[in-house]
Amino acid sequence: MTAKALAAATGIDYREHLRLPMMPHILCPGCGHGIVLKALLRAIRSLDLDWDRLAFVAGIGCSSRLVGYIDGCTLHTTHGRALTFATGLKLARPDLTVVVITGDGDGLAIGGNHLIHAARRDVDLACLLLNNETYGMTGGQVAPTTVPGSVSTTTPRGATEPPFDACALVTAAGASFVARGATSLPLELDTLIAAAIAHRGFSFVEIESDCPEYFGRYNRLGRAPEMLQQQRRRFDEVDETLAAKRFVGAPPHAGVPRLRTGVLHERKT
Ligand code: SF4
Repeated sequence: MTAKALAAATGIDYREHLRLPMMPHILCPGCGHGIVLKALLRAIRSLDLDWDRLAFVAGIGCSSRLVGYIDGCTLHTTHGRALTFATGLKLARPDLTVVVITGDGDGLAIGGNHLIHAARRDVDLACLLLNNETYGMTGGQVAPTTVPGSVSTTTPRGATEPPFDACALVTAAGASFVARGATSLPLELDTLIAAAIAHRGFSFVEIESDCPEYFGRYNRLGRAPEMLQQQRRRFDEVDETLAAKRFVGAPPHAGVPRLRTGVLHERKT
């Protein structure tokens, strides 16, 4: 489908919001991050926000590179520090809507301290953390979200440490809006991102976004379409389990499996 036909079919011309001179982008074929970028653009469109009062801030990593492709006010900062730059920006310009894009390595490892304190302060930022369970840009090292048993360049016999549950972490730290989405559920992603941006206070969306190039290849998960199907099946199974156990609507930490999607926690501020 051509870009023009896609724009006619979806009602949005993504090219209007992208820095076309930056193309071609650096993402590998099948990377989930492209799905997230399009969902973010659709979410912003649904909110009818003024692009001159929107700012996007990112750290370092494949997911953080997304801000370089958005034709708007963007800050590509240092590793793990996106939330500190974003906090300063919000303090200096409270009129701005500030969206932070980070990854699991950027946001939960080197930037983990900043994440919990931004959540504790409930700073009015929307933080999207793209979780691909690995350090993609630097070649597929183990990350704080890598599931035990998974192969990476630094865990050739399988990871052994327990991963962070990012949503539980920021909820405990004080975030007032916490959600989990997935690239295999792209339309739900639009809704979650829009709700996070509209929320006043620290809003956090963890997005399961596959890395077929390193995580997928090292763990023999197939190519990008197969990985998306596997991801979707995981969430469908969780939904069925929740429905069977009548857990739907229950708060997190009440026995709800880790990979539930949707809004997990919300406190009006
Ligand atoms: S290395 Fe992985 S996360 Fe990075 S662009 Fe390639 S597929 Fe995406």
